[in-house]
Amino acid sequence: MYIYNKTKINIIQGDITKMEVDAIVNAANNTLLGGGGVDGAIHRAGGPTILEQCKKIGGCPTGEARITTAGNMPSRYVIHTVGPVYRDGTSGEEKLLYNAYYNSLKLAKEYNLKTIAFPAISTGVYNYPKLDAAEVATRAVMDFIAKENFIEEVYFVLFNQDNYQIYKEILDKKLNG
Ligand code: ADP
Repeated sequence: MYIYNKTKINIIQGDITKMEVDAIVNAANNTLLGGGGVDGAIHRAGGPTILEQCKKIGGCPTGEARITTAGNMPSRYVIHTVGPVYRDGTSGEEKLLYNAYYNSLKLAKEYNLKTIAFPAISTGVYNYPKLDAAEVATRAVMDFIAKENFIEEVYFVLFNQDNYQIYKEILDKKLNG
């Protein structure tokens, strides 16, 4: 566990759908109508009420965030955000990924949510290089924490060992240095 500006930051290797937090974040696509990867896992675990709410919302631009309840999962809410598809790194990917994390935290604050779990947004089928993505993710979260001092606990839930190691190295460097 790491601490930054009184907020706890944890890295966990596992399945985000099992997290008992106020909100888990979904790496969704622009339609919000479900997909593969973590999106598919969240809709499967949460059940059809999530899709019903997503249909009413009607989509989400890249870098923005929307919220639904979490259905059958132990968390209270799902914050659906859309990360960028990685092309060549010069198509605004970094800012869009940063915004996806930052806007998810802003929405959490609006809903008075204090504990939140993130997956490694865009590092699956959207193909964002894992190390660069982890650098952006940790920077966005730390920027928010430094500015707002509201969220009590952040979890980065990494599905794969390689992403877990990457986050560990980056956070060791940034926060245990
Ligand atoms: P994107 O389209 O944003 O790339 P993906 O779902 O394809 O989204 O992948 C994002 C990350 O989520 C990948 O690192 C993938 O390994 C991870 N992932 C897949 N399933 C889960 C899960 N159940 N819990 C946490 N992370 C997951």
